[in-house]
Amino acid sequence: MLPWHARPLGDVLAELGTDPRRGLDEPEAARRLAVVGPNALAARQRSGALGLLLEQFRDVVVWVLVGAALVSGVLLGEWVEAGVIAAIVVLNAVLGFVQGARAEEALEALRRTTAPEATVRRNGHERRVPARDVVPGDMVLLGAGDRVPADVRLVDARHLRAAEAALTGESVPAAKQVDAVEEHAVLGDRHSMVFTGTTVVAGRGAGVVVATAGDTAVGGIARLMEEQEEEPTPLQRELASVGRRLALLAAGVAGLVFALGAARGYPSDEMFLTAVALGVAAIPEGLPAVVTITLARGTRRMAREHALVRRLAAVETLGATTVICTDKTGTLTRNEMGVQRVLTAAGDEEVAELDGEMRDAYARVASLCSDAHTGDEGEAGDPIEIALLRSVESAGVDPAVVRGRYRRVDELAFDATRKRMATLDEGDGALRMSVKGAPEVMAPRCHAILTTEGVVPLDDGGRRRLLDQAEELAAGGLRTLALAERVVEGATSRVLEDLEDGLVWIALVGLRDEPRDESPASVAEAKAAGVRVLMVTGDHPATASAIARDVGIADHGRVMAGRELQRLSEHELSEVAEQYPVFARVDPADKVKIVDAWKARGEVVAMTGDGVNDAPALRAADIGVAMGTGTDVGKDAADMVLADDNFASIVAAIREGRRIYLNLQKIVSFLLSANAAEVLLILAVLLIFGDAGAPLLATQILWINLVTDGLPVLALATDPAPPGIMSQPPRRTRSLLGAREQLRMLGRGAILAAGAFAALLYAHVVRDLPWEHVRTLVFTTLVGVQLGYVFVIRHEGHGWDEGRLPPNRWLAIAVAFSVALQVAVVATPVGHDLFDTRSLDALDWIVAAVVSALVPQSIRFLQRRDDAAGLVP
Ligand code: ATP
Repeated sequence: MLPWHARPLGDVLAELGTDPRRGLDEPEAARRLAVVGPNALAARQRSGALGLLLEQFRDVVVWVLVGAALVSGVLLGEWVEAGVIAAIVVLNAVLGFVQGARAEEALEALRRTTAPEATVRRNGHERRVPARDVVPGDMVLLGAGDRVPADVRLVDARHLRAAEAALTGESVPAAKQVDAVEEHAVLGDRHSMVFTGTTVVAGRGAGVVVATAGDTAVGGIARLMEEQEEEPTPLQRELASVGRRLALLAAGVAGLVFALGAARGYPSDEMFLTAVALGVAAIPEGLPAVVTITLARGTRRMAREHALVRRLAAVETLGATTVICTDKTGTLTRNEMGVQRVLTAAGDEEVAELDGEMRDAYARVASLCSDAHTGDEGEAGDPIEIALLRSVESAGVDPAVVRGRYRRVDELAFDATRKRMATLDEGDGALRMSVKGAPEVMAPRCHAILTTEGVVPLDDGGRRRLLDQAEELAAGGLRTLALAERVVEGATSRVLEDLEDGLVWIALVGLRDEPRDESPASVAEAKAAGVRVLMVTGDHPATASAIARDVGIADHGRVMAGRELQRLSEHELSEVAEQYPVFARVDPADKVKIVDAWKARGEVVAMTGDGVNDAPALRAADIGVAMGTGTDVGKDAADMVLADDNFASIVAAIREGRRIYLNLQKIVSFLLSANAAEVLLILAVLLIFGDAGAPLLATQILWINLVTDGLPVLALATDPAPPGIMSQPPRRTRSLLGAREQLRMLGRGAILAAGAFAALLYAHVVRDLPWEHVRTLVFTTLVGVQLGYVFVIRHEGHGWDEGRLPPNRWLAIAVAFSVALQVAVVATPVGHDLFDTRSLDALDWIVAAVVSALVPQSIRFLQRRDDAAGLVP
């Protein structure tokens, strides 16, 4: 039997039982789906529960702890201590596991909402269905920018070209057609088919699905379908490297302390325990898990704001965005168009008043050069085309009747670079070419104009007058479009592009597209937040400038037109970029240049795009933003997809990104200060009271890091955004852990340690209590100052005006719970056994409480002074 690409079309359709005009019926599609299974390649092997659990034990830190537990137990006979360390390690692994699973879940949910879809014909109607529900025999409709959902034998192809590089390595898109090709043709030469995982870059087509899932040509090359591995975000990478450095440092310091102690003749088992405690103190065990869960939770909150984040790193980058390049149509405006003005040679008229040949010609071009539908079944298609059809109806003509008289022979789909669309239709005994597009590209192609006296020639002066009219319409914020046509007689050339000259100008149309209600406020919010908003549009400069004024992007629009932009080098552009808030009549390729120019100035750039040619710009941007209604190609290249196409959602995502980053900043800063406090405390005590022993046990440190600090830190991640978060400029540093930050954390650590040290002085020097008792008080005081410090660090980064940050209920609950746990550890026999603690007396509790209240306050005081002196940004 011949392969699909070589068989006559009739055989293919018969074999698959498909009527191309009707497609499959729903019940039949459902039946086939049940038989062949979903159209999806086996997803990347997910780690699974066990894998995820084992992953928790891949961390070196865990093995350091396991080693410590073993040594404590086997060598030193400290079985309780060994057991507690082991239990805490397991607890940590379980926590990491739960959080990892939740992060994975959040990402999976996002993946589902951005899952690929396909347009199929079922029961004679076009429908969007999830790509995984496509079955053999389905009629699939394809347009520029679509991802091909299955292997398809083409039934109809209009200038259809597909990018197949991923499959064949061929970088030039392949032209497709419907005729069977030679049986032994290689994949790249099977022009009668399109394949799963490739994309349509131009034209339009339809075809019947011959293979899905594992049966497709890429079946083996799963790489194509596989989602990208989630890479660590910059912050996660930074934390990993800090973690490694701290582990090394810890090992070094611990080794040194152990060696020094041994040299001085201290008992080696005790020195060993101290060294282990130091090592444990230096490593922020819970940090990576908290960061991951915070980012993942962020994606869920952003999804609620209609911003679907496709990469975790985008959550982080969003908060640092300094420039948004946004398109106009549909993003700042509603994309609900209406024809407002129609200018013909007879004057400026209401469409309804057009008559005679003028009306017929208008109705013809608007109906034929269009893929939209209006009518009883609702409307579908490009908003511009829908508006044109509606205007035809209001002139008393039914577009369906016009279309009924013609048969479309060929077409050149609208393309943002060509800025026009053309169709070739046969009917009334003639072949007609209908073209519509941007007035500037249409005027040079028109040699005549339709008037009430018939067709009259058009000279340069006439063309200029038409463009002046277009300019005038555009200045009022209208989108402009010119309609033209010609009769093709005995055309020698069948190449459509060659026929696009010698047209007869029929009308100039002005379409209204109101700004969205929320656009001005969102633009203002972005500006107040120090984020520059630029409009980058394919539309006319005057239209762009009028809308830019309406939404507040620019009052006195300096507009750079695409043509000007193309003359500048990237360097020249970055020099002058600041003066131009609006870029109009740009081609998709120009967008890359704009992104690069702004990036060269050190800015963090978000760029929107929805078309088939926008992918490079989306990739080049720090945050590529695709539209929910945009092309598959755009979505694939983007970091974020706007479910509602709305500019306001970008600003909302930036606000959320800032909140998340601010909270991460608090968390990282808190945990590292806390760890610094523990290390400094142990070192200070060793230096000053050398023979007394460590002021904290390894188990106690683990308890602090993972339990009493762990819960409040998770709650910190839920801190609400301070009201002023969008009135501050974007953060300019890309690093949370710069030298200055590290120094500050060390300083904070020293102050926290000093608090615990004061408690030690009171218990050891003043009262000369037994060391276990001293240690218990130091342990409790350290927990206390750290819990107090949580409330101080909350206010960090927003001016210390407590009245303004709403309270955080979760934090209050978490801290209360941690206090209760600590009391249990100190005041119950079980706690005594596990953590080698002693009961504290009233005076001890008072000391712990007073220190816990005062020390964080002193940090707050110092911070206020720094703020006042402008030391901290
Ligand atoms: P934005 O980039 O802000 O979304 P846009 O949608 O106006 O802007 P394009 O879609 O590139 O930009 O359109 C550019 C020009 O092409 C329009 O100003 C219009 O004159 C013309 N045009 C748009 N849509 C069509 C269409 N379906 N058929 C013919 N011409 C069109």
